[in-house]
Amino acid sequence: MADNELQQVHNLLIELQDVLKKKFALESEIESLPKNLSGKRAELIRAREEFLALTEKYNLAKETANRTALDYETAFNQRVSSEKKMETVSTQREFDALSKEIEEAKITETGLNKAKKATQEEVDALSAQVAEKEAALDQMDKEVTSKEAELEAQIAESRAEVAKYDEECQRIREQGVSESVYTKFSSIVKNKNGLGIVPVHGQVCQGCNMILPVQFVNEIHLGNSTMYCPYCSRILFYEESEDAIDYSAELQDMEEEEQNVTADFGSDVDIDLDSI
Ligand SMILES: [Zn+2]
Repeated sequence: MADNELQQVHNLLIELQDVLKKKFALESEIESLPKNLSGKRAELIRAREEFLALTEKYNLAKETANRTALDYETAFNQRVSSEKKMETVSTQREFDALSKEIEEAKITETGLNKAKKATQEEVDALSAQVAEKEAALDQMDKEVTSKEAELEAQIAESRAEVAKYDEECQRIREQGVSESVYTKFSSIVKNKNGLGIVPVHGQVCQGCNMILPVQFVNEIHLGNSTMYCPYCSRILFYEESEDAIDYSAELQDMEEEEQNVTADFGSDVDIDLDSI
């Protein structure tokens, strides 16, 4: 690959990086959007459960009130019929027995009348609570539904924007970035905070600040092929820099200590993108 040809690829990658950065930011925004609503949705589910429990309580209270009303009616009729029997009483003994029966019936009737009123009051109170809760639930339901619609529109709009970025990436790629370099590069930009291509100043990778071996830097300088930083996986290009520190002596020592240190480096290094 000629020097200017690689330079051209790097320029295209820098252009791509800008678009990819925006695209990934938008994608992560889309991903986080539904989470904003999850609290509201959970609240709605809780409110529905509470409403069901309240309705059940209300129905039970209604059953009790109806039963009490029936019991009261039975006691009332009992007392009336006992009083009617008074008209046909002929002996003192019968009179005493019936009087006792009427007294007892009156006590039962009074008690049941009180219970009837109390259970009906309970039903009325619960009925008001049910109505109130139902109105609040309706309101909440409407809010969540409208927020969901709003969110969907927002997501659709953002997706359309993502599609535009994709088209733009495609347009830049077609000018000379291979499929495999693009795939790797896109993954690096995504996983390395939007920085997928960095210069080397002296011997230092400006992406991770690691010192690279002299031979490796020389290869970058030659510009024969796309080189990836062995530490941060970013694509590297050579850039003259005034503040570059010469580490060659230091590196020389390291290389002497570890003969095979450069064995892992090179343009053919197979980057494991899953581990980035
Ligand atoms: Zn690096």
